[in-house]
Amino acid sequence: MIKLQGKGVSAGIAFGTVRFLKRASAPVEKRVIDNIEAELERFENARRLACDQLDELSDKTAAKLGAENAALFEVHKMMLQDTDYTDPIIELIKTESVCAEYAVNTAGSRLALDFAEMDDEYMKARSADVYDISRRVIDVLSGADGGEGATARAIYAADDFSPSETAQMDKDKTLAMISRGGSANAHSAIFARTMAIPAIIGFGEFLSDDFAGKEAALDGGEGVLYIEPEPGVIRALKEKQQSQERERTELEGYRGKPTLTKNGRKVKLYANIGSVSDAESALAGDAEGVGLFRSEFLYLEKDDYPDEEYQFENYKKVLERMGGREVVIRTLDIGADKQAAYFKLPAEENPALGLRAIRICLTRPALFKTQLRAIYRASVFGNASIMFPMINSLSDLTRAKKIAAEVRAELAEKKIAFKDVPIGIMVETPASVIIADLLAREADFFSIGTNDLTQYTLACDRENEAIAEFCDTHHEAVLRMIRMTAQAAHNAGIWCGICGSLGGDLALTRDFLDMGIDELSVEPPSILKLRKRIAEV
Ligand code: PEP
Ligand code: MG
Repeated sequence: MIKLQGKGVSAGIAFGTVRFLKRASAPVEKRVIDNIEAELERFENARRLACDQLDELSDKTAAKLGAENAALFEVHKMMLQDTDYTDPIIELIKTESVCAEYAVNTAGSRLALDFAEMDDEYMKARSADVYDISRRVIDVLSGADGGEGATARAIYAADDFSPSETAQMDKDKTLAMISRGGSANAHSAIFARTMAIPAIIGFGEFLSDDFAGKEAALDGGEGVLYIEPEPGVIRALKEKQQSQERERTELEGYRGKPTLTKNGRKVKLYANIGSVSDAESALAGDAEGVGLFRSEFLYLEKDDYPDEEYQFENYKKVLERMGGREVVIRTLDIGADKQAAYFKLPAEENPALGLRAIRICLTRPALFKTQLRAIYRASVFGNASIMFPMINSLSDLTRAKKIAAEVRAELAEKKIAFKDVPIGIMVETPASVIIADLLAREADFFSIGTNDLTQYTLACDRENEAIAEFCDTHHEAVLRMIRMTAQAAHNAGIWCGICGSLGGDLALTRDFLDMGIDELSVEPPSILKLRKRIAEV
């Protein structure tokens, strides 16, 4: 047995086989084969298996996001069945006696290039689809996971998990996540907690490639990983798992109850989500609303800008699912560690201080407007609010509100239904705290992003685990900032919540309630625990 200590960033106990997340297809080599018939059969089998995968992907996407979004995979399947695609591959294997991987790569790339050179924009876009299906077939042929995230039930290992990879992990298959690098406040860790996937980071080189395929057990709360665990360790972890289960059962007593302090003060207890399926987790966790819908999830899981319809469908589904409960949709907060390649953001020396969040939206108004249109159109299906991230000045807020007003005017002009929903801001920089009194006149509510507020107040990069000891999340400066923000909000008669990770820190619940915090928004699995804690205060 090998025991390794890392940093637990998402609690929970897991047992399973270790698999390293494969990110890209293996390089394709040209191999000459001597049995052409056997190679043709290999190709045919792989093609069929790829079609089966696409059926599965299409079913899952339809169930999660609707038939419209699943249609792409139907198209991919049709392409895989099209002789325009398969004939050149078969021809190459026959005439040049090359392996199927090489034939698929070569013939597929030629076809993709043909598409790329077409004038018609729609046909041009099909080029990426041809590359995609070829990659899928090559992955099947070479037995790679092809960067699709979790393909089998396992404990997934990697150097580090990017936020988009984490967002795409299949909750049912990902028993846990372990990584060499990582940081507790990075978005991948937050996403793992939101999805209730146990996660441990920071094993460094101790997390050896040799562990692939080995049985393992881990405790995400303690940050301990056991490779080939001894029976005694398994027993102890199973007992702990059962006791956590009992604790969860006890917490069930708080389900469906109002969130009240000991002396009867009502606190809004909301959930942080990033997707339609997280809305299910929020309901399963007994959230009274959604205090932070990280809409960038919709961008991170895509290879290109999600269009208005796609976003509209997602917001609508979440609003409908939450059935009249308040849903605070935060507009796009991309940049810094949340990168999507297609944004082509400039390389920056200090990305956390760079072009991110509202700054991107203000410099790319067309992109911002697409999102706002989708949110406003969806607003009639529930109880939505809009929240702008990283507002740092009055001008940030007035510019963002002006664009929102333009969107409303355009919708009204076209007689498209929408609600004039509340517009709030995230308070997550020291500047916004200092001018909170001014911002409160222009905002309908405040939600404090303690992850970024801590980073910017303490000058501690939230991504950099090496300085974790200098990043005291209970630092008096951060607590005073929160108090000042709540006071400014209440002086102006608006509500103030916390949606950063500190909101779920039970050691601070009393302080937050003393400061008059009106709302706490946390990861769905923490809701009942926090309701119990609030009842004790
Ligand atoms: C925060 O900064 O506290 C926050 C909630 O936003 P994010 O973690 O997505 O940056
Ligand atoms: Mg933030």
